[in-house]
Amino acid sequence: MVDAVNSNTVAVEKLDKYLKANGMRRTPERYKILEQALAFPKQFAVEDLEQAMASNAFAVSKATIYNTVDLLVAAGILRRLSVGAGHTLYERVEAVSYIHLMCEHCKKVKLVKDLNFMAYMNARKFAAFTTSYYNLTIYGVCNDCARRIKREKRQLTIANRKKKQQ
Ligand SMILES: [Zn+2]
Repeated sequence: MVDAVNSNTVAVEKLDKYLKANGMRRTPERYKILEQALAFPKQFAVEDLEQAMASNAFAVSKATIYNTVDLLVAAGILRRLSVGAGHTLYERVEAVSYIHLMCEHCKKVKLVKDLNFMAYMNARKFAAFTTSYYNLTIYGVCNDCARRIKREKRQLTIANRKKKQQ
């Protein structure tokens, strides 16, 4: 287990170093956004970060959040993951890899931690290749959509039956 406090210190140091090396200013907004990004226990979308910043009454523009997230990726603190079409999530580079369950109907993504799969992947070696991380998305139907589809089908059958009776 990574010590949360220690890894946060490392992340702050990484940001310090990156800003200095690139001649960028150490603004309080950048550090506040980093703090908020590190507070997520799981992968998050930029919208989640925006919401968290707003609910903590720290006013920053959308552009600042987007730019800072890019900066945190460039600084090697966060990793950008493409999940499904047009869906982007972020996680800390040292985070455990979650599996994404994406509903093909509503496009909602559920994160699951699969210990068996993790153990398999950690032990899995590929010839002439060193794995850094993986990004797995499983596509299917969520329960909400499955229920809705079933309901719609039933209503359609009833409607067809009524039509026949007329
Ligand atoms: Zn769904």
